[in-house]
Amino acid sequence: MMFTRRRFVKAMCLAGGAILSKACRQTEPVSWKPAYAKLEARGRFKRRIEQAYALLERCELCPRRCGVNRLQGQRGFCRSSDKAIVYSYSPHFGEESPLVGRGGSGTIFFSQCNLRCVFCQNWPIAHEGRGREITDEELASMMLSLQGKGCYNINVVTPTHFMPHILNATRIALQKGLHVPLCYNTSGYERPQIIKLLDGIVDIYLPDLKFMDGAEASRYNLAAAYDYPEMAQVSIVEMHRQVGDLVTDERGNALRGVMVRHLVMPNRIAGTQEFVTWVAKNLSKNTYVNIMSQYRVEHKAFEYEPIARAITSEEYVEAMEWAIEAGLTNLDSRSLSQLDIHRRRVR
Ligand code: SF4
Repeated sequence: MMFTRRRFVKAMCLAGGAILSKACRQTEPVSWKPAYAKLEARGRFKRRIEQAYALLERCELCPRRCGVNRLQGQRGFCRSSDKAIVYSYSPHFGEESPLVGRGGSGTIFFSQCNLRCVFCQNWPIAHEGRGREITDEELASMMLSLQGKGCYNINVVTPTHFMPHILNATRIALQKGLHVPLCYNTSGYERPQIIKLLDGIVDIYLPDLKFMDGAEASRYNLAAAYDYPEMAQVSIVEMHRQVGDLVTDERGNALRGVMVRHLVMPNRIAGTQEFVTWVAKNLSKNTYVNIMSQYRVEHKAFEYEPIARAITSEEYVEAMEWAIEAGLTNLDSRSLSQLDIHRRRVR
């Protein structure tokens, strides 16, 4: 058959169409469904929300276990009542790249906190409680608005003390079309029993593991949380049991799994070597780990001599080298870029 110019153009168009159609298929989430949608399909989501709300009658949502009746207006350490308080919600492009993609991570910043670190970078929100009380219906609308703006997930920041509201809002939003992953972005100061309640609801857990030593942990937050390392570690093991290592779609966007954050602090206060060893032994060497270099002397940190300075390049390089020596294979890409930068500075 003669391959005329006309036939050639037609063949190229067909080939191009096939490639384009394949590319389009790859960008579709295909059969993936968020965990909360599957739980709803099994008829078990509503009951879980009722259990969560019942906990507010004698609040033991977090390790502080204040025992106050938040449904009757009593307030415990976190100063939260029966309504969620939100400071802001918007697409966020500064989170880890698997959470951001092209549309951003749909962050909802909740006010107040059950830990309140003295070096908190969000202290006007976490310590001063700036924000606005909202209903669960409004929270659901925020979720849908973020999804409508193209966000790849709903990223609830500091969710612990408003967990029941978040679950209820997620279900309301689901009934109106929410279909992106739910990401639970927590300080790590959690009760494993409460994390169990989130099994089959949360898709992505994004916990901090800030301290590995109880004495250090108790010094640098208003909760004086000596039990922080134990509570965070057992809770993160439970998170990992539920969702495992990070799973992404074909474009590298997070769908499910645990992503652990650890902020390197001056004078080895955060116990970074113990942290990386712990992850390798207790989760998996393939755990997505972000070893963060952006420690700043914020809020009250200047009053605490050991943490009243930025970290040095040497401290960041040793932290990352410990992670590599521990065999961690899924280190955040920006942390690896930071390692290159800091290595050049120490040479
Ligand atoms: S969530 Fe708040 S009230 Fe409830 S136990 Fe924790 S700090 Fe106390």
